[in-house]
Amino acid sequence: MAEFTLELNDDQKQVRDWIHGFAADVIRPAAAEWDEREETPWPVIQEAAKVGIYSLDFYAQQFFDPTGLGIPMAMEELFWGDAGIALSIVGTGLAAVGVLANGTEEQIGTWIPQMYGDAADVKVAAFCSSEPDAGSDVAAMRTRAVYDEAKDEWVLNGTKTWATNGGIANVHVVVAAVDPELGSKGHASFIVPPNTPGLSQGQKFKKHGIRASHTAEVVLEDVRIPGHCLLGGKDKLDDRLARARERVKAGGGERVKNAAMATFEASRPAVGAMAVGTARAAYEVALDYAKTRTQFGRPIIDNQGIAFQLADMRTQIDAARLLVWRASWMASAGKPFTSAEGSMSKLYASETAKKVTAQAIQILGGNGYTREYPVERMHRDAAIYTIFEGTSEIQRLVIARTLSGMPIR
Ligand SMILES: Cc1cc2nc3c(=O)[nH]c(=O)nc-3n(C[C@H](O)[C@H](O)[C@H](O)COP(=O)(O)OP(=O)(O)OC[C@H]3O[C@@H](n4cnc5c(N)ncnc54)[C@H](O)[C@@H]3O)c2cc1C
Repeated sequence: MAEFTLELNDDQKQVRDWIHGFAADVIRPAAAEWDEREETPWPVIQEAAKVGIYSLDFYAQQFFDPTGLGIPMAMEELFWGDAGIALSIVGTGLAAVGVLANGTEEQIGTWIPQMYGDAADVKVAAFCSSEPDAGSDVAAMRTRAVYDEAKDEWVLNGTKTWATNGGIANVHVVVAAVDPELGSKGHASFIVPPNTPGLSQGQKFKKHGIRASHTAEVVLEDVRIPGHCLLGGKDKLDDRLARARERVKAGGGERVKNAAMATFEASRPAVGAMAVGTARAAYEVALDYAKTRTQFGRPIIDNQGIAFQLADMRTQIDAARLLVWRASWMASAGKPFTSAEGSMSKLYASETAKKVTAQAIQILGGNGYTREYPVERMHRDAAIYTIFEGTSEIQRLVIARTLSGMPIR
């Protein structure tokens, strides 16, 4: 049995330092510009592709790190660089995870490479689950997928919203209701291949933070896709639906996991790690500033009122990272989240990022409130972590339900 350690091994340190170097040299210097432009930073994604950070191979290597720490380490470093640009780099991963979680080997091999493209011609992918009336309440989804047996095609209709890379993606993964009577258990995920007629971008959102990441509506009007674009295949779906119908008939049914939730569960600790990256970035700026800014003839960190805030900030960041690492280790070791450890890590890390970035602004005083210093942007960026991939309230619901076994509302 392996000895317990929280120390990274030499390979992990090497990878972490390499990603950190890219974040410091390429991402951070570009952050303010792309935040103002509110556009996808294609040249930075291309740089990431050139050095090997934007590719399935990169994520696969991190994913298969036996300690489970590869992905959280990578996320923390990239988001330390800048959250908006980093989300543009890793946003494709959410769609890729959707395929990995629900797809066959053939689908994984066919579609994931098309999500990334290559360094000469980079592509992005989008995962489209949320809808205007179905955010936290995934079961309220209205997008329909109807099977046209004669043509062996699926026909998708509906409107998706808040999709990262929506409309600019080469490949869209769309979650749709096949059997609306079953609620979220009647959902399935579909690949919409590049240039499929009927898929268009709706409104592109102007956002509070992570402005370098593209977020938009995706409109699906009689989108016809081949039968093989159903992730997991028709037999598996038919089996799953039959079991769900049986459970509904028997008056149960909570145990069948829906397609979107499988994606989110796997990705929650990773989102926690992104939040840790942003929090750590703001904390470092605040620490440096507090040591060099002089008022009343001494550095402001000489005041316990400032120093203790920094002590709390760092303590909370480290605690958040430990929760993220625990959940990531559990996931990679195949241990179920019996106490909703994935949700705990996302909840604590995202709330910490919001709090720490706000404290960083306070420590920088007037400078912190301006765009001359990065903490203002980091605070705007941090607000997303308590919203996407399940809001903090939804994480608390998941944790409370898991711990109590009660249907808390
Ligand atoms: C920048 C950005 C990128 C995104 N990227 C994607 C993406 O790539 N793909 C995708 O599918 N989605 C994406 N989303 C959508 C995101 O996951 C949803 O915004 C999120 O799930 C919340 O849904 P909602 O916005 O409809 O809020 P609502 O569900 O309407 O919630 C509003 C408020 O009510 C609270 N609330 C709701 N229900 C309960 C309850 N039962 N108990 C207590 N409080 C509750 C919520 O916590 C929240 O505070 C993105 C969102 C943003 C902003």
